[in-house]
Amino acid sequence: MNDRSLLMIPGPIEFEPSVMAAMAVKTPSHVSPEFIEVFGRALTNLRHVFLAPEGQPFVVAGSGTMAMEMAIANCIEPGNHVLVVGTGYFSDRMQRLVEIYGGQATQVKSALGTVPSLAEVEQALQKQTFQAMTITQVDTSTGVRAPVKELAALAKKYNALSIVDGVCSVGAETLHQQAWGVDVALTGSQKALGVPPGLGIMMCSQLAIERWKARTQAVRSMYLDWGQWLPIMKAYENRQPAYFATPPCNLILALDVSLQMLVAEGMEARFSRHQRLADAFRDALYHMNLKLVAADGYQANTLSAVYYPDSTGPALVGAMNRHGIQIAGGLHPEIKQRYFRIGHMGSIHPNDVVACLFALAQSLASVGCPVDTAGLLPRLQSKLTS
Ligand SMILES: *Cc1c(COP(=O)(O)O)cnc(C)c1O
Repeated sequence: MNDRSLLMIPGPIEFEPSVMAAMAVKTPSHVSPEFIEVFGRALTNLRHVFLAPEGQPFVVAGSGTMAMEMAIANCIEPGNHVLVVGTGYFSDRMQRLVEIYGGQATQVKSALGTVPSLAEVEQALQKQTFQAMTITQVDTSTGVRAPVKELAALAKKYNALSIVDGVCSVGAETLHQQAWGVDVALTGSQKALGVPPGLGIMMCSQLAIERWKARTQAVRSMYLDWGQWLPIMKAYENRQPAYFATPPCNLILALDVSLQMLVAEGMEARFSRHQRLADAFRDALYHMNLKLVAADGYQANTLSAVYYPDSTGPALVGAMNRHGIQIAGGLHPEIKQRYFRIGHMGSIHPNDVVACLFALAQSLASVGCPVDTAGLLPRLQSKLTS
């Protein structure tokens, strides 16, 4: 029954059979008319997914971290000041990237499980001029979600580009990139977009492209330079052949299938489905007396980070595995050994939530921490169907 296990880590996630099937074909030439059509359609569909009708999409081989690095390499020049909205492990990674590319990073820190307040961020913006602000929409280390709309508006007010790491949120958490004035939003294929790992994906505003064109210094990378990729992306969208570096053709076939499914579901329907399932999941966790890392009001809909009950600990992850559900351990260095993470994004079905929660109850019991599950099912039923 091993192949019936559910992968519920915060990416890679469970992928749709039709997405997997799209990859298992003879690799097309990257300049064949059939492939150009698929890549062009995928790029156009990304504008729907990011809700950025005038955005410039990029799809490049690499992981989410590559997309983060591409954003920083192109948007930041040596000496630029960048405000990092501190939320945990992945905002620290942004800070590191800014420094590697010669920028001066200032991080507004927050208490574990929260996001800096808008007032704290604005205070920092008033102190000096920042060329950019980085925001991690969902910090996968703590399951905290940042208010991107409000933060991007602040960045705009102070004339800083807003760069949003949406690796654990794009395609699941509400993001209206263009309406919110977000300049760069980026993700990796393997999380809420539902495609195996290997694609870094980003959407840029026209302002981000203008600022990039006005750079005084060259981008310090060849592979990551928008100057290499911009003509390629434009060519594919115009259904023309082009080459800079070979795209991962089979992954792009899969991306095309997955994006068509996202667009067919509709982004608003998708956002509210994630909200509904996450609400039901959290409600059940509280019912079992479990405590979340993210404070009330900051909880992401794509994953939950949950403290182990006092008497258990990391043995729970193995117990869950034996009950057919793969979950992830902790990631935030301060509390790594004290919590676990469960992903609930992408094509997750209400039945997956139910299966996961009952495996959790059984696993907790097996590691010496029985929880009360009486009344759980009716409660879930009303939440999942409301
Ligand atoms: C997963 C993740 C990343 C890193 O993506 P990789 O594909 O592992 O490189 C970056 N930021 C966030 C918020 C993530 O969840």
